[in-house]
Amino acid sequence: MWQRLIPGFQRMSAVEAWRQVCLRLELTLANRVDRAIFKCQACGQCLLFQTAFICPLTCTRELRNGPCRGSNPHHCFIRRAQACTWYLIYTRAERQGTLERLLEVNAPCATPVNPSEVGGSTPHAHRYRHGYGPRLLDRLFNPSRYYTEWEDYHNRQRALPWWQGDSRYHPPTYSEPASRLEKQLRSGKFVISVEVAPPMEPTGVRIARLAEQLEGYVDTFNFTDNPRGIARMGGLACAIHSLANGIEPVLQIQTRYRDRYNLESEAVGAHTTGVHNLLCMCDDTGRLGPGPPPTPGPADLDTVQALWMLRRLRDEGVNVDGLQVEHRPRYFLGALVSPCATLPRYAALVTQKKINAGAQFLQTLPIFDLSRFCDWMEALDKRDLLGKAYLIVAVEPPKNAHHLRFLASEVPGVVVPSGLHARMAYSSDPYEEGVQIALEIIAGLKKLRWIHGLHIHAPGREEVTVRLVRESGLRDFAPQVESEPGNGRNRTGADPMPHWTTHELSTHF
Ligand code: SF4
Repeated sequence: MWQRLIPGFQRMSAVEAWRQVCLRLELTLANRVDRAIFKCQACGQCLLFQTAFICPLTCTRELRNGPCRGSNPHHCFIRRAQACTWYLIYTRAERQGTLERLLEVNAPCATPVNPSEVGGSTPHAHRYRHGYGPRLLDRLFNPSRYYTEWEDYHNRQRALPWWQGDSRYHPPTYSEPASRLEKQLRSGKFVISVEVAPPMEPTGVRIARLAEQLEGYVDTFNFTDNPRGIARMGGLACAIHSLANGIEPVLQIQTRYRDRYNLESEAVGAHTTGVHNLLCMCDDTGRLGPGPPPTPGPADLDTVQALWMLRRLRDEGVNVDGLQVEHRPRYFLGALVSPCATLPRYAALVTQKKINAGAQFLQTLPIFDLSRFCDWMEALDKRDLLGKAYLIVAVEPPKNAHHLRFLASEVPGVVVPSGLHARMAYSSDPYEEGVQIALEIIAGLKKLRWIHGLHIHAPGREEVTVRLVRESGLRDFAPQVESEPGNGRNRTGADPMPHWTTHELSTHF
């Protein structure tokens, strides 16, 4: 009897072997196709279905939640020979009608625990290893099943248990203001903040001197984190000096060269020292410094992820690993925004994502082009965002024509109208001209609604604040805003920003 069965077994194993060969071939083909078509890096945490089938890991900084502040339609800000990945993603998603999918707050990319998995973690190959995911042959023979399986695959990947990302707006869950700045903004006061360059020497004398000079003119000091790639005193140490001298600080939480643990530990430490205003941002690249730039590399967290992490810690008592903490910190969270970087409707979407993730106030990059700024405000209005976060607009008086050119070409997200370059170049007193330009911009901003404060950005020349505040009459200025964003009383529909006079403002320049 056994002799009669043996040929049967032999035939079956031949069939099984053939099946394995076919699967292997399909797996190899799937890997090759993913790499060729999507430039797939096999990270195993695929976002292609969300990002209009363009791999976000092709972004120079491997950002997973939207562009950096230098994004523009022409090229990547860091590698100018290539297009900006996120600009391509937005334009294609807009064509496909899937732009809103990009509001999802995605988790940071985890390094695969088992490197041998990497080659098999492209989306199509995933099916052969884990039993679900899009099947390459369905693309040809059953397209509707193909897209259903893509969606299923994506949904299983997106909200990881330790991260729980989503695309909803999360208003703060506390009622008492977390800081004096929040209290002032809630009461409708127009706040003045000043960017302060931290000292290079290990002493707080400069901060004490500035606090004395600017007392009565400013509400907060905002310490730049190693501005333009030059090493200086750390932000938290500066913030402690500032508190000791009676000025409330805003601590910049930069994601540059840091991982999620460094960021969270700094934020936890900040709470214990009485620093509650945190401004999350990506960075300037270190390439602006005088020395050889450090390797930029991908950032572990972006601004959206840093906000998400800190908001969850504050409101849900969950740390970055998903563990519960007993005592929750108090934070008033802000985000740096870049109104002029990319197209206004895309910049508004990035802003929405930051607000959804936890930003309670937005601080802009220095604004020189009021017309573009107004376009961005209009785009925010269309998304019904103006009542959800306080808006603090940065103004920088340029020192001379060279400084203005430097800002326009080297600082990501700063856009300068050509008329201003000419004005600075032909001026007989460039420093004074720069101050006049800043005063004109402030006068233009005062006509707009929904501006809650001004950020004077002149690190190293902070004294100019006194003149700008005095001459622009900001000390007694009452902003045209509702006093408590984030409380669900957003303006909708009928009132189309009557104070916006975009054309009138832009003719200044
Ligand atoms: S400009 Fe920014 S978002 Fe765009 S590819 Fe370069 S690093 Fe990425």
